Amino acid sequence: MTGLDPRAPLVLDTRELGRRPGSERHVELTAPAPADLGIEVLSVPEGSPVELDLRLEAVMEGVLVTGTAFAGLEGECVRCLEPIHDEVEVDIQELYVYNDSRDGQDTGPEGEDDETSRTEGDLLDLEPVIRDAVVLALPFQPMCQDDCPGLCPECGARLADEPGHDHGEKIDPRWAGLASLKDDPSN
Ligand SMILES: [Zn+2]
Ligand SMILES: [Zn+2]
Repeated sequence: MTGLDPRAPLVLDTRELGRRPGSERHVELTAPAPADLGIEVLSVPEGSPVELDLRLEAVMEGVLVTGTAFAGLEGECVRCLEPIHDEVEVDIQELYVYNDSRDGQDTGPEGEDDETSRTEGDLLDLEPVIRDAVVLALPFQPMCQDDCPGLCPECGARLADEPGHDHGEKIDPRWAGLASLKDDPSN
């Protein structure tokens, strides 16, 4: 046993569900988000509420969990670094196979060559499933608005705030060196 903590917010106890195939339970709960739920530039803040609306169904080989997870997101635009406040709702569907048949066997390194979710006793861990679903649902490069124009390369102004932002005639960077040479009094 790797020992799931039954008090952990994303660990569900299926004892009440029982194992008779067809048995069902509806579970609604709000759990604090675990650390690193998301990607570097956009994630669910640790400890913020994750709302779960799930149906647990006993099937022959295990417990089928279906439903949704909903959470707020905080991050920043990859182009202009403006804070992003967003939310995400993901569909969850996962079969947790009863672990009984593998009791006493070496199950190998966790998650490495075995993608199957398994129950541990009466417990099942929602965290990896929610994490995968949230990460998949997030934009790879979150932006504050569609096609954010980013920052001015010269002064760093946020171009979305200043549509007409302009520095007048630009100095071609290839000539910038010459210009400074010309201004140097030692020449
Ligand atoms: Zn932006
Ligand atoms: Zn500028």
